[in-house]
Amino acid sequence: MAIFKVPFLTGVRRLLYILTPNESSFHFENEVPEYLKEAVPFFFVFIILEIIISFLKGDGKVRLNDGVTSISAGIFSKVPDLLTKSILYCSYLWVYENFRILELSWNSPWTWWFCLLGVDCGYYWFHRFAHEVNFMWAAHSVHHSSEEYNLTTALRQSVLQLYTSWMFYIPLALFVPFTIFMVHCDMNTIYQFWIHTKYIKTLGPLEYIMNTPSHHRVHHGRNPYCIDKNYGGTLIIWDRLFGTFAAESEEVAFGLTHPLNTFEPVQVQFGYVKYMFRRLSSLSGWKNKVASMFCGPGWAPGKPRLGNIEDIPKVQPPFQLYDTKTPLWMNIYVAVHFPLTVVGFQIIHQTANMLSAVHVLLYSGFLLLSLTSFGLMFDKRPLSPFLELIRCAGFIFGELLLRDNEYGSSESSTTVNVIRVMYLASLGIWSMQSVRAMASTMPKQMKQE
Ligand SMILES: [Zn+2]
Ligand SMILES: [Zn+2]
Repeated sequence: MAIFKVPFLTGVRRLLYILTPNESSFHFENEVPEYLKEAVPFFFVFIILEIIISFLKGDGKVRLNDGVTSISAGIFSKVPDLLTKSILYCSYLWVYENFRILELSWNSPWTWWFCLLGVDCGYYWFHRFAHEVNFMWAAHSVHHSSEEYNLTTALRQSVLQLYTSWMFYIPLALFVPFTIFMVHCDMNTIYQFWIHTKYIKTLGPLEYIMNTPSHHRVHHGRNPYCIDKNYGGTLIIWDRLFGTFAAESEEVAFGLTHPLNTFEPVQVQFGYVKYMFRRLSSLSGWKNKVASMFCGPGWAPGKPRLGNIEDIPKVQPPFQLYDTKTPLWMNIYVAVHFPLTVVGFQIIHQTANMLSAVHVLLYSGFLLLSLTSFGLMFDKRPLSPFLELIRCAGFIFGELLLRDNEYGSSESSTTVNVIRVMYLASLGIWSMQSVRAMASTMPKQMKQE
């Protein structure tokens, strides 16, 4: 299976949205390249490059625990795609097929440019609502939960977000052919990858029109001047037009105003949802309850719809970041096992339609177990050695079970053998760690006996 489906330069061009209508207008759905899937290997090339730069500069701009958590959230958000069709595409196609007012020509450059602007404007309004409406923020806050700002942050996505974002693109379905929408939908997402970096300061005149690293840094800031600013996807013109633009000035502190303080992926995905419902039940009167869901996350009874900006905690460098000092051997362990999990996901993602639902469920379960286990390790939770032991045993057992199955890896290639040995050795390590963890939790008298 080839990792890179397109030539390197084409991949880089796509990251920057440098496409012509000629090369990306299609009549039929099955002709549209899977732009997003094809971009994933390029994401990782640039993530590795940024890690190398950060390592050489020694500026700690990419932390292992934070980066793994961000990529884990990206994988988490794509798990439903393995089993269901995207709600965004299904709803768009249904409206286009049944309710379109006008059929714009699929091969006209005007349609292509109109759709580029339409998708970006739809994204702006979705994004603005996602920050200004609490139940939508519950999903989108996942993307803002990293206290770092690097290329891995771009992948920190919510599994729930798509269930609210789809409706913002429906107006386009009244005019624009589905195939053109598919292209711009993917391209709008891909473009937003490379702007998540601290290494690009400003881009001169492009700053007036395009969404750039500088503008998006402001969007990720928790300094009072950054709150509810710069919602643009590809273009920054919408923010300038609708009054939500702010230029980067003082040093930005990244992340949420009330940090999650965890690397555990389930908590990252649903921590705010839990908080939102706890808050809902604590409020009295149905008006307050409705307002807590539909007003901004900063709202409280008696306050304006978006809360008061004075309530945002002030920040001063050096900023305090959530961090846990895990031992070096554990970091190396995750640095070896995590890429395997990413590659495993990529393979399943590309072949899911050839697998049975039971197998996809089993693989997804193992995937989520792996991500949770790494998160618990970084959080230094007492349960972590036992969970990792179960994960390693689960892999060995599952692999034995599927080895001679049509879905398994019946071939005895060197790579497969190395992975098998690695998991066996890991099983040994975590058996010892689990015994040590149990011994350390025993009551003192029992140890003395
Ligand atoms: Zn946002
Ligand atoms: Zn972002």
